[in-house]
Amino acid sequence: MATDALVIGSGFGGAVVACRLAEAGYRVVVLERGRRWEPNTFPRAPGDPWTWDQADPANSNGWLDLRMYRRVAVAQGAGVGGGSLIYANVSIEADPATFASGWPPEITFDELRPHYVTVGRMLDVQTIPRSQWPARTDLMAEAAARVGHRDRFRPVGLAVTFDPNWTPGDSGAYDAARSTRFVNPQGREQGTCVHLGECSIGCPVLAKNTVDLNYLARAESLGADVRPLTIARSIGKDDDGYEVHVERIENGTLHPGVERARIVVLAAGSLGSTEVLLRSRDVARTLPGLPEALGVGWSTNGDFLTIGWHGDRDVAPTRGPTITSAIDFSDGAVGGRQFVIEDGGFPDLLSAYRRRHQRSFSPWRRRRLLDAAVGTLVGDPGGIDHVMPWFSQGRDAADGRLRLRKRWWLFGPPQLTIEWNADASRPTIEAIIDTHRQLAQATNGRPILPATWRLGSYLITPHPLGGCRMGTGPDDSVVDHGGAVWGHPNLYVADGSIVPTAIGLNPSRTIAALAERIAGRIVAAGR
Ligand SMILES: Cc1cc2nc3c(=O)[nH]c(=O)nc-3n(C[C@H](O)[C@H](O)[C@H](O)COP(=O)(O)OP(=O)(O)OC[C@H]3O[C@@H](n4cnc5c(N)ncnc54)[C@H](O)[C@@H]3O)c2cc1C
Ligand code: SF4
Repeated sequence: MATDALVIGSGFGGAVVACRLAEAGYRVVVLERGRRWEPNTFPRAPGDPWTWDQADPANSNGWLDLRMYRRVAVAQGAGVGGGSLIYANVSIEADPATFASGWPPEITFDELRPHYVTVGRMLDVQTIPRSQWPARTDLMAEAAARVGHRDRFRPVGLAVTFDPNWTPGDSGAYDAARSTRFVNPQGREQGTCVHLGECSIGCPVLAKNTVDLNYLARAESLGADVRPLTIARSIGKDDDGYEVHVERIENGTLHPGVERARIVVLAAGSLGSTEVLLRSRDVARTLPGLPEALGVGWSTNGDFLTIGWHGDRDVAPTRGPTITSAIDFSDGAVGGRQFVIEDGGFPDLLSAYRRRHQRSFSPWRRRRLLDAAVGTLVGDPGGIDHVMPWFSQGRDAADGRLRLRKRWWLFGPPQLTIEWNADASRPTIEAIIDTHRQLAQATNGRPILPATWRLGSYLITPHPLGGCRMGTGPDDSVVDHGGAVWGHPNLYVADGSIVPTAIGLNPSRTIAALAERIAGRIVAAGR
């Protein structure tokens, strides 16, 4: 039986839409390719399900989907809760100037303001209490002051619940048992942050306010049916709506099936949603009329990481939330380039990986790139406590393109590829690198550029944006300002793929705010 609304993907966009449609009385089914994760199943040991393999999801359906393309790699989460499971919790609004060009005129900061507020409330966004600043936050504040930009430093909004009474100096402070348990407004049990530094591999005490614990929890309490391990492959028209061709992962095998609904909302992320629509248009040919702009205007969001080696101070990057603060240059003060600098932390597991692999040479380019990235991230041998990951995002050229390509050496259907190179974005990346250098050197640090960038202008982005971008008509875009696919009534996209330009800072709050607006318009349009 057809349901009212099928939502494909359960990250920021999908969770918001599922919640609001369920509240409005719609029968909602959420299809999610990944697993439902719990603290006792989060990956930790080497043999755990760490990775998602798009070429073999039946056997490899783990936590992190890391895809290596020719000139860029993309990291994404897989599971119920999507990118919120793996993300660094930063939940901040875009700079108002972001919407000045490249966006439909209906989308302005003022238009999004109430939705930003709603998202902030649902995710209980707060800044880290002053008494809990890890060493990294102090280093950020000091570095900003030393280069004459004290006023640009600020702690960032985090979707993390802190206990104001927790102090790092207490004995046993970093023990999970020190986390205070509470029940959130959606009825899920969580705990307060005890600075375990494992935000990107699943918070053991559930201090992260991930969307499965709030938006999706509310949707499920209202009857939404969330189906993990179900991959949407393509969409076609049905008499009264759409049919979605799926493959369900069961016992290491893919089982095909069809789901039907009057309304379909794609929220599979920048790569996921674009791939489903490309397959529907070009392979299954079930939606042949999709716009030519599909796949165009893809952005890395200008993500860049420089390692600072601060041999004379304890930076302790494995302590505290992954990101805590920013130095904001989004006003273009550095050569007109817009970017923000953030501190970065990482779980201690990376050094274990490097210790295991540093003496082996892999014949596989993919493994060598991963080793280089991890090597850069953990810095020189001698102790990760002196490593400061200077992280950044900037407004890149958003000139990448997603396509399906048949590889001559592979059987089977064509695969997603990304055509992207650093040329047009280089001035922004260089401005970021210069600023990283200044900040590191001003605090007695030695900046080390990633080997991936030095050797091949290769970027790794956790913030892919675009592919189904919003615009003013089918000639230049895939969806309108309300996420509706041009020429296909009741087919929507509500995730990072609709963002038409780089945001130049952490994008999830903007994605969720856009999804709030889209859900409101679907409900207002009536059944
Ligand atoms: C390590 C890391 C740290 C990050 N830190 C931050 C941060 O601090 N702040 C911030 O704002 N952003 C951060 N991000 C980025 C953020 O996670 C993404 O911008 C955000 O999750 C995108 O939201 P979305 O709804 O577009 O897609 P997602 O949240 O990625 O959700 C898409 C969902 O769809 C599922 N899916 C994909 N294809 C299919 C399919 N065919 N069928 C069914 N399901 C499918 C996926 O498994 C996923 O659950 C980080 C990302 C990473 C990787
Ligand atoms: S720092 Fe630790 S306790 Fe706090 S949110 Fe991250 S993983 Fe959870």
